[in-house]
Amino acid sequence: MNYLANENRYQSMEYRQCGNSGLLLPAISLGLWHNFGHIDSLDNARNILKKAFDSGITHFDLANNYGPPAGSAEENFGKIYKDNFVTYRDELIISTKAGWGMWPGPYGDWGSKKYLVSSLDQSLKRMGLEYVDIFYHHRPDPLTPLEETMRTLDLMVRQGKALYVGISSYDPIESAKAFSMLKQMGTPCLIHQPKYSMLDRWIENGLLDVLEENGIGCIPFSPLAQGLLTNKYLNGIPEGSRAANKRGNGAIDENQVSDLIITKVKKLNVVAEARGQNLAQMSLAWILKDKRISSVLIGVSKPEQITDSLKCLEYYSFSNDELNTINSILN
Ligand code: NDP
Repeated sequence: MNYLANENRYQSMEYRQCGNSGLLLPAISLGLWHNFGHIDSLDNARNILKKAFDSGITHFDLANNYGPPAGSAEENFGKIYKDNFVTYRDELIISTKAGWGMWPGPYGDWGSKKYLVSSLDQSLKRMGLEYVDIFYHHRPDPLTPLEETMRTLDLMVRQGKALYVGISSYDPIESAKAFSMLKQMGTPCLIHQPKYSMLDRWIENGLLDVLEENGIGCIPFSPLAQGLLTNKYLNGIPEGSRAANKRGNGAIDENQVSDLIITKVKKLNVVAEARGQNLAQMSLAWILKDKRISSVLIGVSKPEQITDSLKCLEYYSFSNDELNTINSILN
């Protein structure tokens, strides 16, 4: 299955330095949480990945449990990678994670060395890779000592199974402890992956400062609040949308498409239109305006959404008036 990537793929994408590291990430990266499982169309998944890479998106983000079923997004990615992307391995940043429940029993969840080591080995097999570029601990573990988890990340890099490591959804205090441990071990943390959008601004209360102080990159996930921050739900829940699909596992459902949220979204949509953008584009631009953001991690259900969302790169500065209006809508 020959695939020749677009030769102009690096011309329109912006690449940002990830923290103090030498790694550049595309301003927009693609996540495979939804739409890449065995229940989804492999052809659509392939077309999404090709469209992304052709547009300069060099970073694909996975996790052990993406699917459904868990593991199947990595398997499907592995198939597509083998068919179409092997020759581009050195142009790709592929990440995976472990930290949420993956297999039964006490060794398939959270942050022990036992779990993380086995999980990364399984992920590499599923994807047909020798190494991942970034391995993340997916969520903080209240039981396992932080040092055990960080030592395991350090081990993965020393074993050559991961080039860089990151953490996801850690609060500012635990993050700072993790960064300090990893630094002492000689494997500096590359990046933090937190949830962040106009509808969920928790990282503005300390986390972004800690990342900047420590020279760590930031790649926010669910920047469109899973589609709420688009014009998709302005007039109800369309068929085929994520809220209509009810796939569980943290995905939005009809209860989250509430009147309160949609009232705000409608007002945000007016601001977006006045800027000459659609709401998806403005929502991504609003995150990218902060230079501490290394990359914004989007999801898509079809290739056209990539083309649409990437237009955010054409215009991501905001006037004070626009920011004040947005803040007053969100508050
Ligand atoms: P988004 O907030 O970007 O939501 C993606 C959804 O928004 C799409 O499936 C689509 O919905 C809709 N959408 C996207 N672009 C457009 C557009 N231009 N116009 C209209 N609708 C659009 O991100 P996700 O929630 O998918 O998260 C992104 C990635 O972040 C994941 O794939 C994963 O890699 C990572 N992630 C990490 C987590 C962690 O714990 N570290 C947790 C969650 C995600 P529809 O399907 O309805 O068309």
